Amino acid sequence: MTLTEKLLARAAGKASVEAGDNIWVNADVLMTHDVCGPGTIGVFKREFGAEAKVWDRERVVIIPDHYIFTADSKSNRNVDILREFAREQQLPYFYDVIDDPNGQWKFDVEKGNLKRQYGSNYAGVCHTALPAKGHTRPGEVLFGTDSHTCMAGAFNQFATGIGNTDAGFVMGTGKLLLKVPETMHFRLEGKLQPGVMAKDVILHCIGEIGFDGATYRAMQFDGPGVASLSMDDRMTIANMAIEAGGKNAIFPFDSRTAEYVDARTRLNGTRGNYEPVEPDSDQQFVYELVVNLDKLEPTVACHPDPGQRKKAKEMKDFKIDRAYVGSCTGGKTSDFVEFARVLRGKKVVIDTFGVPATPDIVRDLQGTRWGDQTIWQILESAGVRMTENAGCAACLGGPVDTFGRMNQGGLRCISATNRNFPGRMGSKESEVYLASPATVAATALTGKVTDPREILGN
Ligand code: SF4
Repeated sequence: MTLTEKLLARAAGKASVEAGDNIWVNADVLMTHDVCGPGTIGVFKREFGAEAKVWDRERVVIIPDHYIFTADSKSNRNVDILREFAREQQLPYFYDVIDDPNGQWKFDVEKGNLKRQYGSNYAGVCHTALPAKGHTRPGEVLFGTDSHTCMAGAFNQFATGIGNTDAGFVMGTGKLLLKVPETMHFRLEGKLQPGVMAKDVILHCIGEIGFDGATYRAMQFDGPGVASLSMDDRMTIANMAIEAGGKNAIFPFDSRTAEYVDARTRLNGTRGNYEPVEPDSDQQFVYELVVNLDKLEPTVACHPDPGQRKKAKEMKDFKIDRAYVGSCTGGKTSDFVEFARVLRGKKVVIDTFGVPATPDIVRDLQGTRWGDQTIWQILESAGVRMTENAGCAACLGGPVDTFGRMNQGGLRCISATNRNFPGRMGSKESEVYLASPATVAATALTGKVTDPREILGN
């Protein structure tokens, strides 16, 4: 069995499964957020009754993160609905925007977008916060009401996005009926070279198979190249499985996985026992691709879908109006470090936005010094508009007052986010080009798509 088959067999209480089998799977964690949480709660109450209790309150994790820093009253109200539910169900893992359990969330327009407006429990973007808060464990099954839930496959989990109806059912029963996906095999060899990042790995793979090339399939990444990838790198790669239509992504378990998970569960006091899945010798794959990391180059996914792959160096006269670094995929500490490495001591020539995924990342960037400046100061000195209000922000457009949103048609944005279908970051007439934080930085310095090695080489 492949890693995904093995994991699902265990979660279904079976000795073995095959691709195509329909099986009932036990959930280890159900995650929801402010956009889908109210709908999920509505389904749960309608089907299980107004007084019903969730199947296991320790296993429901609620993380508001999407439409938070906006004056839109309906978006603010969604956070209040989550708070009422968490209180009623006594859920220990609700990462509220405000500290008062009886309060109401309201964004203060007067304070503006840049200065922190959240309380001490706020966790930021759900997929980045889940592992950081100790909710991802190898060998487990995670369902989330968000398509990029697949990011947790970096931790040797089966993690996939589900709709509100399925999530309402999981909330009441802790189970879900699933068809076992076929597995595609991506064998990573070698080591990434300077200026090339994990984002380039996944953009390369999606470019090979197309934006629907993994539809309802597992994408298994393994091979000797995995050892050199950090957990942040693996998260970036797993995050974008859905951009090829993948059901899930999965990485093998190793000492780096253990180190991260053990540290985070210990720090947050979450469950620390787990059982990883190890590869079998007789795995059957429906597709094979060997990716030589040494040979990869900075890559861009062009408008209008993530499969439109080009090398950055092939686009050197292509004009760009705006640059954006942020999101679960591209707003981690390591992403901002590479962004800053390219920008340090220079000035951007186009509007450039930086949105850390979580408050912890804001603290990392404001607390880490390179010479006489923090990373945050290096970015601000280069002209990047950095916000302390960690969250999804303009990654998916959001209300019109969202920080970094593309409100105007005709603009081209180069972005470290994960999705570029028309209208994704705002106006349907705007265009999004996906790239690594290093390529976004190099492009912000020139106003044209630029291979970061041209800057780093100097
Ligand atoms: S940062 Fe973007 S991709 Fe990630 S959860 Fe938020 S909206 Fe979705």
